[in-house]
Amino acid sequence: MSIEVKTLTVAEAAALLAAGKVTAAQLCRAYLDRVQTVDGSVKAFLKCDAERIMAAAEAADQRRAAGTPRSPYDGIPVGIKDCIVTAGETCSCASKILAPVVSPYDATVVARLKAAGFIPMGRLNMDEFAMGSSTENSAYQRTANPWDITRVPGGSSGGSAAAVAAGEVAVALGSDTGGSIRQPAAFCGVVGVKPTYGRVSRYGLVAFASSLDQIGPLAHTVEDAAIILDTIGGHDPRDCTSLPEPDCGGLAAAVAAARNGDLKGVKIGLPEEYFASESSAGVKAGVEAAIAVMKELGAEFVSVSLPHTKYAVATYYIIATAEASTNLARFDGIRYGARDQEAQDLTEVYFKTRGHGFGDEVKRRIILGTYVLSSGYYDAFYLRAQKVRTLIRRDFEAAFRQCDLLLTPVTPTTAFRFGEKKDPLQMYLADIYTIALNLSGNCGISIPAALEADSGMPVGIQLIGPALAEKQLFAVAARFEQARKEQVFTPAL
Ligand code: GLN
Repeated sequence: MSIEVKTLTVAEAAALLAAGKVTAAQLCRAYLDRVQTVDGSVKAFLKCDAERIMAAAEAADQRRAAGTPRSPYDGIPVGIKDCIVTAGETCSCASKILAPVVSPYDATVVARLKAAGFIPMGRLNMDEFAMGSSTENSAYQRTANPWDITRVPGGSSGGSAAAVAAGEVAVALGSDTGGSIRQPAAFCGVVGVKPTYGRVSRYGLVAFASSLDQIGPLAHTVEDAAIILDTIGGHDPRDCTSLPEPDCGGLAAAVAAARNGDLKGVKIGLPEEYFASESSAGVKAGVEAAIAVMKELGAEFVSVSLPHTKYAVATYYIIATAEASTNLARFDGIRYGARDQEAQDLTEVYFKTRGHGFGDEVKRRIILGTYVLSSGYYDAFYLRAQKVRTLIRRDFEAAFRQCDLLLTPVTPTTAFRFGEKKDPLQMYLADIYTIALNLSGNCGISIPAALEADSGMPVGIQLIGPALAEKQLFAVAARFEQARKEQVFTPAL
């Protein structure tokens, strides 16, 4: 049987597998064919090992035939961002410096996916070391937005978002340090989740900024995102920042229960500062349409204030670069990765390996981070940023005393064109709506809400919840998804 996978969801694939209407081998073959057909123009995959995927699919079919599938999802592929390690596969973080690296072990999230029978599929393109908002910082290739291939898919998880939007895989893992799951999800018209900090293990995620990084899903639907987060979430003794909760409390069940209900009794805050700042007309219209839909469902809206929002971008770019400068110190060509062959002595090994191995944006971050941590500047920049971070977290705590969730835009504009944001500062400023909740640790979800009238590009909305409030976040998101006016978010490609 040949199967159309372009818009297939994980939940639908599981039903087809359970009914015996499709085998895992047929399913994986169909995704690999789709990659073959469209990835020449999308370029989401850095690598995709068809043989390995098909071998895993056949093993899944044998388990199912024997009546012992690992879960209802046994045999369904999941795309993996190139900064999350999978045993036996490369993990370059889209950087030249890690080109030769083959991982000896599975990240906890990958091990948990495999334990449920999911099949890791390929290595998805990203901004080098997850630094960027357009995937243009990859050392290898330029991933296109499947809605319009002259535009960026967003970043840094641009490969993950584009692969899902193009139907090359039903779901993918990304990582979010300052918006890298939610922003590309909004640009590509898919769902993206940044879980509460500590909800998902970072063991096996190549660190960018350890106090901000979280792994999360990108998917066609809120339900699929819930299925993946149910699978990967929960305490992991291998990550000392992992929270003690054993799991996320059954998000897929919460989604199923909420889908056809209403939003009566749900109080949603609209942060003044997020609506006062510049967003394009298309983004504003999309967000307003979403608010109208939720009001019809009975949600109550209140205005709230997050007064320290204006410091969020500056605070983030001090803390994230400081952490990055220390995290990336280990990439020197000594123990692993690419080593410069021309170097004459040890100092030259460091200089040349790092000089040739890192791209411009990564070097910029390392230099910025080293500067804000240097003696004499540490107190003025790094320490002060940490204090402002506390104020930003308190802003959210105060807001959540007045409402259950917050609703905001995800990005000030829809997906921009390649090369349009040449000035790094312009790129950084566009992170305004996503970074504050990495600083505070809260959870957030980006859901497609509308298509922009003139460009036809997707507009997302962001729902933000208090720490560990994923269940409520997903329930409201699912209810909105069911009711939103625009129902089809599928690019023509
Ligand atoms: N765009 C932000 C940055 O460049 C966020 C990246 C991320 O979340 N990994 O740092």
